[in-house]
Amino acid sequence: MMKLIIFGPPSAGKGTQAQKLSKKYGIPQVATGDLLREAVAKQTPLGVKIKSYLDTGKLGPDDLIVQLIKERVSKPDCKGGYLLDGFPRTMGQAKELDKMTDIDLVLNIVVDMESLVERAVGRRICPKCAAVYHVKFNTPKKTGVCDKCDASLIQRDDDKEATVRNRLKVYQEQTQPLIAHFKAKGNLVDVDGSAGIDGVFDQMVRAIDRLNK
Ligand SMILES: [Zn+2]
Repeated sequence: MMKLIIFGPPSAGKGTQAQKLSKKYGIPQVATGDLLREAVAKQTPLGVKIKSYLDTGKLGPDDLIVQLIKERVSKPDCKGGYLLDGFPRTMGQAKELDKMTDIDLVLNIVVDMESLVERAVGRRICPKCAAVYHVKFNTPKKTGVCDKCDASLIQRDDDKEATVRNRLKVYQEQTQPLIAHFKAKGNLVDVDGSAGIDGVFDQMVRAIDRLNK
């Protein structure tokens, strides 16, 4: 039984790492974003409540999110453990989680905020084939044009600078304070998020394997 949290600011690569860890250790990735979308799509009683919040542009209150997570981790596939991605996101959620269970390890991806802004704001995608580029780190052969299908590249609204900065501000105000909470519990490990996808993954695997010794 292994219960993990993958933690860090938006766009730090939590989802990518969570998928890799889930595969390696055979435990499901429990991603709040996916659960919210699924509950809304299936129109479960909880999903209907959540939708009314999402429609007003607000994130559901802590108790709805906590209930969603509780239902998910009580499913049979979570018997051997799970990996939380995007939960807890507020101090209220963290306290509810403490009542629910003991987490073995919090993997905290540490990244410089300005480099996150640079990564997101420079991202360009192909509206036709969904290829992803970056104006600095992964440039197409011809500026603004997709290598694969010649379509003009676009910037997603989500990657506009004001939106990115706002997301990071919400993280800094509501989510970042949880680091001190986990530290006090003694189960947080910092991971250097600038090490690239494989480098970050290696650090996480080492931390998990120390735990299992
Ligand atoms: Zn394309």
